[in-house]
Amino acid sequence: MSLIVQKFGGSSVANAERIFNVADIITGTYKQGNDVVVVVSAQGDTTDDLIAKAQEINENPSKREMDMLLTAGEQMSASLLAMAIEKLGFPVVSLLGWQAGFLTSSAYGSARIKRVVPDRIQKELDKKNIVIVTGFQGVNRYNDMTTLGRGGSDTSAVAIAAVMKADLCQIYTDVDGVYTADPRKVPNAKKLDVISYNEMLELATLGAQVLNNRSVEMAKKYNIELEVLSSLTRKRGTIVKEANKMEKMLISGVAKDEDVARISIIGVPDRPGLAFKIFSKLSGKNINVDIILQSVGRNGTKDISFTVGRSNLQDALDILTPYVEVLGASGIVHDETVAKVSIVGAGMESHPGVAADMFEALFESNINIRMISTSEIKISVLIDQADADRAVTAIHNKFFSDVAM
Ligand code: ADP
Ligand code: ASP
Ligand code: MG
Repeated sequence: MSLIVQKFGGSSVANAERIFNVADIITGTYKQGNDVVVVVSAQGDTTDDLIAKAQEINENPSKREMDMLLTAGEQMSASLLAMAIEKLGFPVVSLLGWQAGFLTSSAYGSARIKRVVPDRIQKELDKKNIVIVTGFQGVNRYNDMTTLGRGGSDTSAVAIAAVMKADLCQIYTDVDGVYTADPRKVPNAKKLDVISYNEMLELATLGAQVLNNRSVEMAKKYNIELEVLSSLTRKRGTIVKEANKMEKMLISGVAKDEDVARISIIGVPDRPGLAFKIFSKLSGKNINVDIILQSVGRNGTKDISFTVGRSNLQDALDILTPYVEVLGASGIVHDETVAKVSIVGAGMESHPGVAADMFEALFESNINIRMISTSEIKISVLIDQADADRAVTAIHNKFFSDVAM
């Protein structure tokens, strides 16, 4: 007998028919003699709809009340799924995050899982129940409900798999695996049979929403193998695991992130310490900075440009605009019409020329690069948002047009 954790995303439980489809997968696994713990997301667009409802009432609600509201989405889908399983004649119980032992930090809206105490889950499994747990939520030290950030149900599933030492952790979604690019945008994207934690982590962080990046981070930390698969087609999916015996692919995928804004501080005096001052101001407010570009000093001044997430743009401008004068810089400008397109691949480390191929693909499509950043296994470019989809396709064609997988 094995312990199997299965996570179902919002589209997999979007309506009654889909809920019964999922109930069938779960009870099928249970009938084979396995213990089954299920993590569910809110149905379809419920989370977005709840956010819109909140906006109708108060455009700036407290994060605590937002979490109180958003946790309701998963409560609905968990109970409905449990009712479907009851109807099929199987023993089942649904649990909220706090009942399932998810203890989190107190950061409403982006709480971190501190610990999972799965006593209640275990008790229910011992009673031979199928256990359904609400994803995306936990409880903080004030006994308030918290949420883990958008897409957080993946992390809930991996956390349960890690703490209960599950034999298998399956992430069911609306595509049948991890592809070399978003298969909804790039029709000739190819499904990967397997991908390493590090590459998946980069892809997820760089915009491939198929897995939440924190879930991959946690899977890597606790060495939990994940399978990403479709709840609709029931084909084998993509395995996410440690790289050791895997053949290194040159490039494993192309990702796009439109949640980017660029800020430039113009005419910064060319003296030591100013970059430090700018970026420590931002980190003091927990604002993550991504690509950074500093121009060569000329006439004693230089420009410093960097990107932040769009949700942090206003905060970053509020902090830095009054500071421009203090720095002795001449101005600050920003641009929200940009996007980041990246390639990820463990093989690029040992293959010079990957960057040149990527830039050639952009040149051939007449797409201008505004900023570039690289690491051992990724290259990102900042371009105009209007060019982003064309860029993904052009880059994807460059690297994958004739690869058989
Ligand atoms: P769920 O609700 O199941 O969590 P998500 O919408 O969060 O599903 O993630 C699945 C979506 O991720 C797919 O529908 C697909 O459009 C998108 N996606 C983006 N990049 C990739 C990729 N490289 N491989 C597979 N899917 C991707
Ligand atoms: N329902 C939440 C969201 O839409 C969590 C999730 O789907 O993972 O972000
Ligand atoms: Mg998701």
